[in-house]
Amino acid sequence: MLIVDSDLLLVERQLRASKLACPLCSSLLAPWGHSRPRGIRGDLGARLFLRPRRTRCSGCKVTHVLLAEVLWPRRADAAVVIGAGLEMTALGMGHRRVAAYLGLAEGTVRGWLRAFAGRAEAVRRHFTVALVALADDPVMPDAAPSTLADAVSAVVAAHRAAATKRPGMLTVSRWEFAGRAIGGRVLTSPSSAS
Ligand SMILES: [Zn+2]
Repeated sequence: MLIVDSDLLLVERQLRASKLACPLCSSLLAPWGHSRPRGIRGDLGARLFLRPRRTRCSGCKVTHVLLAEVLWPRRADAAVVIGAGLEMTALGMGHRRVAAYLGLAEGTVRGWLRAFAGRAEAVRRHFTVALVALADDPVMPDAAPSTLADAVSAVVAAHRAAATKRPGMLTVSRWEFAGRAIGGRVLTSPSSAS
């Protein structure tokens, strides 16, 4: 799996021009059909339908699905929706209120939080390192009341630093940025991401 730009025509051009590299061995990826179509719930109740591209590495021969950065692996909701839920939780809202606010089932939000609880420390560390690399004079976020909130703060700070470094270039939301930067593993560990 490889997280790519949401602009599918751009990705198709990159693929056909042999500009996408294998995340395992860095050899070039070649088109290899499509994966099954999937529908995801976007912002404000929008439904998005995607048919992710499949590719095959010219080196190690492993196939990789290209996932647009709008979504995260194995989740039915868009990255911005899940990210909004994580941010509300970081601010102290309970999962029932978050679910009601987003118009989703409580079990869905609980599932995100359970998954993120196991990833928060790794996410916090990843984006703290990214912040130091991106910012000329990095300002570390204050310690938050929970590991979850610390991780959310680190993502927000790293996204802000990336946007400052490349003014006008970074047009994606912070959670799309986060998913792409961490290989889609905001909620899934490296071994379970597929
Ligand atoms: Zn490879």
